[in-house]
Amino acid sequence: MKKIFLNKLARVFIYVLLIIFTILITGYQICESSLKLIGKQQVEINYNQEYIDEGVNFKLFSFNLNDQVEVKENINEKQLGDYKVVYLFKDIPLPIKKVRVVKVVDRIPPSITLKGDTEFKICPNRDYQENGYQALDEYDGDLTNQVEKIVKEDKIIYKVKDSSNNQAVVERKLIRIDDEAPKITLKGSKTVYINVGSSYSDLGYEIVDNCDNDIKVEIENNINTNQVGKYIVTYKAIDKAGNGTSISRNVVVYDGSKGGIIYLTFDDGPSNTGSTAKILDVLKKEGVKATFFVTTKGSDDLIRREHNEGHKVALHTSSHDYGYVYQSVDNYFNDLYAVRDRVYRLTGEYANIIRFPGGSNNTVSNRYNYGIMDVLVKEVVNRGFYYFDWNVSSGDAGSCYDSNCVYQNVINQLSKSKNNIVLMHDIKMFTADAIERIIQFGKMQGYSFQVIDESTRPVHFK
Ligand code: ZN
Repeated sequence: MKKIFLNKLARVFIYVLLIIFTILITGYQICESSLKLIGKQQVEINYNQEYIDEGVNFKLFSFNLNDQVEVKENINEKQLGDYKVVYLFKDIPLPIKKVRVVKVVDRIPPSITLKGDTEFKICPNRDYQENGYQALDEYDGDLTNQVEKIVKEDKIIYKVKDSSNNQAVVERKLIRIDDEAPKITLKGSKTVYINVGSSYSDLGYEIVDNCDNDIKVEIENNINTNQVGKYIVTYKAIDKAGNGTSISRNVVVYDGSKGGIIYLTFDDGPSNTGSTAKILDVLKKEGVKATFFVTTKGSDDLIRREHNEGHKVALHTSSHDYGYVYQSVDNYFNDLYAVRDRVYRLTGEYANIIRFPGGSNNTVSNRYNYGIMDVLVKEVVNRGFYYFDWNVSSGDAGSCYDSNCVYQNVINQLSKSKNNIVLMHDIKMFTADAIERIIQFGKMQGYSFQVIDESTRPVHFK
């Protein structure tokens, strides 16, 4: 009887335990299912992006227990990988735990930057010369070395992938075209003068083309060297793409049978105002040499240029100061030697061709030392100099104020029956403007141009 009772009691006890256990389990399950994640269980954020936790919603019956939930996370946004956010409710014997997975990922492709134009004109027959590029990725850094370059006829494709397999692709467009004509440059003067009956030899040309190296130049002319006149030589070239160009040269056939020499001489320079340089430019273009009676004014470079371009650098005196140089023989020579030293320093030559300021018969000098010119003209010869006056006066230091006046003065005084020594001043811009016409007139008339040297028949006023 007692045993039966005990058995019954034990059973009741077990039932009670089972009931209590069931209640606890159910309670735990209710608690467990009441703790809910807000948002997704698995979240992705981009590298370097800040993670903002959406939190949990934990409501048991009508009690809000959000504040009792402990949140643990160790997300490093600067490191790709999977991280856990753990939500813990520990106020009951068996804590409730929920986990959210946060993936830090790199979904941003690298960026490729092209240096130079993204649309490129290129000769049809040339290889593209890379202008450079750079590939940068926010996570992997510089990926320039990993760029794959695919060269096609009309484009270049640049591809690169970052460590998360994000790909970037950019293109550079190549426009295969040659729309530039070749450029022909003439060697020598644009206008060439040749004596009737002599032969014409072309001074040549240079040709460059953006795409082609071997372009043929066709030269056409109708020159009759036995007939005085003006002729044109035409240089024509066409590149492989059909772009054509042409340039011409004038050839003047003149009758130089009557001879005649012109000595262009320029006093008082050099001048830094541009007139001397311009005169040198014209002389160069015309292939004419002249004589410069220089002072110590102006730049050294201009004197060097005069010398290097084949002109005669002669002496005028250093100061050109009448009151000083004509006061005494010593003053004159001191002044002359000073400019001679300058010319020697610049050209390496002791110049011995001279011209007196005002000419050898100037009367101004009498104001400072009466009769000094009579002494000087002899003394300069004794000391090894050759002095020159002139027999064609351009008037550019007196009556003329424009280039037309200078031109008319000179051409009116030129004569085949004399040694034409033309006095001009390279410190005058209007003189510089006149000499091209003077030279062309002289050439047409058959004159030749020479520099003064020791063998030149002198022109002396006395
Ligand atoms: Zn002078």
